[in-house]
Amino acid sequence: MVPIGKALRNARCVRCRKGDMFYPGIMRQKMHEKCNYCDLFYERHPGYFYVSMFVSYAMAVAEMITVGVATYVLSGGSENMYLYIGIILSAVVLLAPFNFRYSRVLHMYFLDPGLKYEPKLAEKIHDRMVSAQ
Ligand SMILES: [Zn+2]
Repeated sequence: MVPIGKALRNARCVRCRKGDMFYPGIMRQKMHEKCNYCDLFYERHPGYFYVSMFVSYAMAVAEMITVGVATYVLSGGSENMYLYIGIILSAVVLLAPFNFRYSRVLHMYFLDPGLKYEPKLAEKIHDRMVSAQ
């Protein structure tokens, strides 16, 4: 049984928590078509990842507020508008690969009621793989 925190952090398949959702490397934003362990198709229907855009938007807004407040505190209450614009835009651009990947992961883990962790399925596949060797 794979803990949800570890599966989320490593972007594992929502159903078996064993297969990778993305190819390796945070800057390489290519997603596998299906789970290489349990054969779950990640894009469950056309336009499935539109919801992930809204998750990504919410993540970006939360990051902008956090970075803006941190800039205010760390700069001693600066009123230079260009300081805030520069730092916030830099943060959004730098965090875009992270947002892309984890918006899809969060969407599949928490916003799709048809997907859930099936530990018995993962065990069954594991047993089949072991017996086939
Ligand atoms: Zn899987």
